[in-house]
Amino acid sequence: MNPAIKVLGVPDDVNSSFMRGSSAAPPLIREALYSDSSNLFSESGLNLEQKGIWEDLGDIKFSGEVAVENFKKIKNVVKDVLASDQKLVSLGGDHSISWPVIDAHLEVWSSLDILHFDAHPDLYDNLLDNKLSHASPFARIMETGKVNRLVQIGIRTLNQHQREQAEKFGVEIYEMRDLAELNAISFSKPVYCSIDIDVLDPAYAPGVSHFEPGGLSTRELIEYINNFSGQLIGADIVEYNPRRDFHNLTAMVASKLLKEVVARIYYDNNKNKQEKNE
Ligand code: MN
Ligand code: MN
Repeated sequence: MNPAIKVLGVPDDVNSSFMRGSSAAPPLIREALYSDSSNLFSESGLNLEQKGIWEDLGDIKFSGEVAVENFKKIKNVVKDVLASDQKLVSLGGDHSISWPVIDAHLEVWSSLDILHFDAHPDLYDNLLDNKLSHASPFARIMETGKVNRLVQIGIRTLNQHQREQAEKFGVEIYEMRDLAELNAISFSKPVYCSIDIDVLDPAYAPGVSHFEPGGLSTRELIEYINNFSGQLIGADIVEYNPRRDFHNLTAMVASKLLKEVVARIYYDNNKNKQEKNE
């Protein structure tokens, strides 16, 4: 049986504005996933060791460091995966990769809701004269006009420019300081989830390029991923930077999130199939 969920490493950090290193993340996340210090069960009870649930496609091999070329390649690889009705979880790399990855999803899904966890809104029109910056993916994504809703959680770095961008694109932002007001989130369209590891407080996940204190706990993030209502159809986990990590702690966090996300997609997929057959 061909597993319906694929996991793909996207080791590209060419568009990082402050510090590179996240391109080394995917193999370390896999190493943490298979570490004997834990097991492969999601909290919901899905055993990721079981055959037929998911398949690791390995990492994309890039021939150089030209962002436009790399993005073309990412989009084509993702389109191939999605063409056969498969769901994808991508492992960055920096957050710039979410633009070509989601762009490919938007060619397959006529309408999407996006749930985005991050310390940063990543809505810069451009940063350091780079429109493909890891600070800009959600500006590019919203410019397509194809996204139904972009909901951002955990933001704590809004400046004037990004406030204006959020207003222009109709982004729903739940800043850290407002999180107490956020109850259950509910989506009507298929949901794509983009997880920037720096949404977590650096105390929980020190392996990131941009330390931004005052973030979510790992527990809170897992609850948000598992408890929103809607169908999860794809995800990325980005910005884990091994150069800043201690004892591979953040690799372990990323692998935990990977297990939870794969399990949620798996259950949502099966539920959706059942509903279609009823
Ligand atoms: Mn980000
Ligand atoms: Mn961030």
